[in-house]
Amino acid sequence: MHGSMMNYPLTLARILEHAHRIHGDKGVTACSSGSPEPKHRYTYAEFYCRVRRLANVLVQLGIRPGDRVATYAANTYQHLELYYAIPCIGAVLHPLNVRLAAAQLAEIVREAEDKLIFVDGRFASRFEGLQKEIGCLPSIFFRGSGSPEQASDSDEYEALIAAADETDAWDIRDENWAMGLCYTSGTSGEPRGVLYTHRSMFLHTMAVNQADVFGFTEADVVMPFVPMFHAMAWGVPYAALFAGADLVLPGGAKPARIAHLIAETGVTVAAGVPAVWGQAYPELRSRAQDSASLRQIIVGGEAMPPRLIEAYEQELGVEVRHAWGMTEMSPTGTLSMLRRAHQNLSEAEKWKVKAMQGRPVPGVEIRLAEVTGLQTAPTVSADSSSAELPWDGETIGELQVRSPWTVSRYYKTEPTAEHFTADGWLRTGDIATINAEGYVQIVDRAKALIRSGGESISSVALETALMAHPQVLNAAVLGVPDEKWGERPVAVVVCEPDEAEIKPAQLKARLAKQFPKFWIPDRFIFVDEIPQTGVGKSDKREIRKRVLELS
Ligand code: ADP
Repeated sequence: MHGSMMNYPLTLARILEHAHRIHGDKGVTACSSGSPEPKHRYTYAEFYCRVRRLANVLVQLGIRPGDRVATYAANTYQHLELYYAIPCIGAVLHPLNVRLAAAQLAEIVREAEDKLIFVDGRFASRFEGLQKEIGCLPSIFFRGSGSPEQASDSDEYEALIAAADETDAWDIRDENWAMGLCYTSGTSGEPRGVLYTHRSMFLHTMAVNQADVFGFTEADVVMPFVPMFHAMAWGVPYAALFAGADLVLPGGAKPARIAHLIAETGVTVAAGVPAVWGQAYPELRSRAQDSASLRQIIVGGEAMPPRLIEAYEQELGVEVRHAWGMTEMSPTGTLSMLRRAHQNLSEAEKWKVKAMQGRPVPGVEIRLAEVTGLQTAPTVSADSSSAELPWDGETIGELQVRSPWTVSRYYKTEPTAEHFTADGWLRTGDIATINAEGYVQIVDRAKALIRSGGESISSVALETALMAHPQVLNAAVLGVPDEKWGERPVAVVVCEPDEAEIKPAQLKARLAKQFPKFWIPDRFIFVDEIPQTGVGKSDKREIRKRVLELS
């Protein structure tokens, strides 16, 4: 028997309408793309009018429901307008990673069959490279800087908006219609497309707005430092508007300018990858008074080093919410918050809990499955016959997930056993433990596990231990081919500037206290910096190339 409640479609238009009606006096402060100074502020009521006009522009340009429309832009207010206008007319927003090489991006654009592309003027010259690869894809440029009032005649985007009318152009007839297309960042394989629906993004928005997840409130000023092309900026542009929080869009500001932005705009919550928080930390510490409004950071994409968690919590008084997720999960999967039962733990124990990837966000189910051939020190599953492994904090297996905001197949491909189980769970490709309280600890990506003498070595565990050394700023560990053992670990280390030189023997001795002998890297290579991917993660593929060149 069916119940008798309304069948109310869960669409992004509802989020936009709510922000306009209920929080119309709240709004967006945007930096110029490429400049850290806040340049343009407008209310959600004004934003709403412009999104309605933009929607009409898209319709006039011939964009129809289901068409993919790409963006090539930093975190600017125009990009935010596109985040709403494109899905609200039933089309599909496809944010492109501007840091990918032109040839790789061209492949993605071809696969997506984008009809139109909106380009941030700041990236005009970089875009030329892409244009050469993709041919004559229609493009509309906007100035990545200034306010609409300052727009010049050559600003195509502003001219189109000025000429458009504000009539209702929303056209979403089904909450299961696609609203966005994002490609994975390609850290350990080629990027794969994930096609979100209105329903999945709506539910993800509700989920992250829970108090124990991102928990945005009307009183917050939220700054997504995560690029808007990385996993839909972790859903922040939708969650902040639904909560009625103000938004600060940093344009192309560098992490070191975060303190300045916070001082100017009163940011209370900011989101970014660990590398951003590592780079922002010295400035935030030296300008502690100016950044006093910051109460919480949301960090994910890579493991947050415990030492950095401690520095933010203890020295800056900023709560760290460490989340794990994937583009495939819209992207939020788990988040590490302390439980009431943890109240009496020592500070050091509390940071250890926070450094885990945390418990599933309500709505997400997780399980551990056996990975054939996996024998990872220091523990191995005792019960190799069970499909689902125990939650004992020790048994290591593949993390599998399902939720209303998890992908069921990649864009334009049928589900394969490599990525999905027969009973419909996503195989994350992450190797993890889960403890009795439901906290996930990522051991490594399956592809990054180092296989030495038939046993597995966790690069993440070694990196975390190295980064806990006060003289180590950053570290990456990877396996290089070895005739005798198959693979052996090599550590690439960046030392803290102004600190005394570290000897490999010191690092080896430190690791030897925590890990079996065969885990200790054979070589330590000291470098000035670790190359990063387009979304700010350690670029293991590039590091490997450089290490092999040195061998
Ligand atoms: P890619 O897989 O190409 O990097 P994503 O940006 O979607 O694309 O990354 C998802 C992956 O990032 C996860 O599968 C996991 O390996 C890693 N990841 C995300 N958050 C964390 C975290 N908090 N700790 C460790 N790894 C993380």
